[in-house]
Amino acid sequence: MSTTRRVTFKLYPTTTQEKMLFEWKNLHCWLFNKALSDRRSSWQKNKQSVNYYDQQKAVKVIRAVYPEFKPLGSHAIQDTLKRVDYAYQRFFKGLAKYPRFKSYRHYSGWTYPCGSGWKALTNGTHGKLKVSNLGEVRMRGQARQWGNPKTCTIFYRKGNWYASITVECEVIRNTGNGLVGLDLGCETAVTCAVHLREGNYQEIKIENPRHLKKAEQKIKQVSKQKRRKRSPNYKQKIKASRRWKKAQKQVSKLLTKVSNQRKDFLHQVSAEIVSSNSLVVTEKLNVKNMTRTSKNKGKRGLNKSILDVSFGFLKDCLKYKTNEAGGSYIEIPTQKIKPSQRCPKCDHLKKKLLSERVHYCENCDYQCGRDFASAQVIAEHIRKGLGTSLSKCGEDASTSTYCGGSRASGLDEASETPT
Ligand SMILES: [Zn+2]
Repeated sequence: MSTTRRVTFKLYPTTTQEKMLFEWKNLHCWLFNKALSDRRSSWQKNKQSVNYYDQQKAVKVIRAVYPEFKPLGSHAIQDTLKRVDYAYQRFFKGLAKYPRFKSYRHYSGWTYPCGSGWKALTNGTHGKLKVSNLGEVRMRGQARQWGNPKTCTIFYRKGNWYASITVECEVIRNTGNGLVGLDLGCETAVTCAVHLREGNYQEIKIENPRHLKKAEQKIKQVSKQKRRKRSPNYKQKIKASRRWKKAQKQVSKLLTKVSNQRKDFLHQVSAEIVSSNSLVVTEKLNVKNMTRTSKNKGKRGLNKSILDVSFGFLKDCLKYKTNEAGGSYIEIPTQKIKPSQRCPKCDHLKKKLLSERVHYCENCDYQCGRDFASAQVIAEHIRKGLGTSLSKCGEDASTSTYCGGSRASGLDEASETPT
């Protein structure tokens, strides 16, 4: 199976190259703002909307009028216009606010949407990036799997230049034929219920490394020092002091390190889960709602932990990794199934407080950890719903998201017939 992967390399431009990169970045930013203001004013004045194709036609004119745009490459220019269009599309769909002008300071970079204008001189480990009108730039980085390079995005972040290259490659990922239900929590990052046979499960706990908590103190300390220095105020034209800049650099370096560590951990966890289970089931969580600042003190701690383990990223990892391995990733509707209230053995419902960490069923005397219980409920729901033959499930549930309870449907009967 071939997929596209993104590989990011760190660039090491020479002084002259870096000067050019900054110049180009500013030109792209100018173009972005220009295209945005064109659309704005034409709507405000004439009630006429300008679309991407109208603006694309202007690329030739821009390149003729402003000679400094020539070395940028027409495809890269088109892509910047596409970014404006994309921002508008998201606004029209109600996914984002009205597009805003970007500052030169925070504009990230540009993209080469096809093979023209750049060439990656590498076999996946370090090498050089050849950019037309700029020359060869040394780069460092390592791809897990290298393939056919497709697009390249050059961006500037925290004092460094990077090239993010998408490659088309063949993916080899093996998986077993297990079923696993996952409960994502704050005490234990992930509680796995691995299906053994006939509704019996084994509990595997994956502890939260709490990188943030460890590094938090250090970050707190450094940002406190930062607050004592003179911070910039661009409206009042106050420049930041050199010491403030230095402290700022330290803070952002620490934050980057923590986020890298966290990503690494989540990649490892998801790879481990997928390596032996082809059917991965979780509950649908609205992380956005849960992390919204809460007045409730107990809940605030939960919010922090949720951010700490970043469930959304873990789910994305699980999704694409199961897809690559040919398995399936399923999310069950939380409110319908109520995994935290249901007994995995007898379906008896009982409300629990957030502080209750043990599941005990009055109906059938079954007792186990709270997270393990809900992980079992999640896995059981799919196992019962789709029939006991797991190999059959793999074919049927090839779609990545599954919604709706099938317990009440005729499939339930099929699970009771001995196989
Ligand atoms: Zn029970």
